[in-house]
Amino acid sequence: MSRRIRSTAMGWLAAAAIALFSAPVTYAAPSKPAKVVYLTFDDGPSQRYTPKLLDILRSQHISATFFVVGYRCEQFPDIVRRIQREGHEIGNHGFAHLDPKKRTLDEVLLDVRKTDVAVVKACGTRPLYYRPPYGSIDAQEIDGVHRLGHPIALWTVDSMDWKAKSAKAIVNQVERHTRPGSIILFHDGISSSRYTVEAMPRIIRDFRRDGYTFKTLPAGDSLRIESFMPKADDDAVLPRDADDVQGKRRPSVDARRVGH
Ligand SMILES: [Zn+2]
Repeated sequence: MSRRIRSTAMGWLAAAAIALFSAPVTYAAPSKPAKVVYLTFDDGPSQRYTPKLLDILRSQHISATFFVVGYRCEQFPDIVRRIQREGHEIGNHGFAHLDPKKRTLDEVLLDVRKTDVAVVKACGTRPLYYRPPYGSIDAQEIDGVHRLGHPIALWTVDSMDWKAKSAKAIVNQVERHTRPGSIILFHDGISSSRYTVEAMPRIIRDFRRDGYTFKTLPAGDSLRIESFMPKADDDAVLPRDADDVQGKRRPSVDARRVGH
């Protein structure tokens, strides 16, 4: 059977598969989780959107987790440093946002290692968590990533900002699906991130009103991370923000495929 997991229908099965194949990633949720949400932002850093998100998070005294792409860390090391300086967690989202399904195991692991190097070079700290591009990972890759020392963190709520046409759509999607302990997937490095930025103050305000607090993914408690794959439509093609794509630094593969 295929161990690769990337469809909506396979969501909870995927979580179970990960749990079976690999202890450090599980789906087990606490029986009565605290009213905490984990905001996570993928595909940055972006020159246009990441600083705006950081401004919002700073003004609200909120910490989040940024799953950065290695080649963008090389482009914008100052933003990586700012993410770290302001108390956020930095995760590894691969170097070139390659679709792991189209890569060999060695290529995927090299991509992860290159990202570690890029992040360390930018800010001096090695990322803890790895989140695979497109949320796509198989059992061998999970083992390999673990051998590199990274627990894997997916998400439990997809904000759908990658295809949003308005901030309101993101707010509605997130507020409909979030529960205590949810790990919410946003993007700070794609064109529709403009709506993510616009939605964030409202999302923060509403969750606060409902008694939620915001945390970075728990570094010391990776066994409790709840993970599943809510998204099947990974053929969606959205252009990266034009200002952030500099021809000479752009990866040659999958550069214009933006997903998770
Ligand atoms: Zn991504």
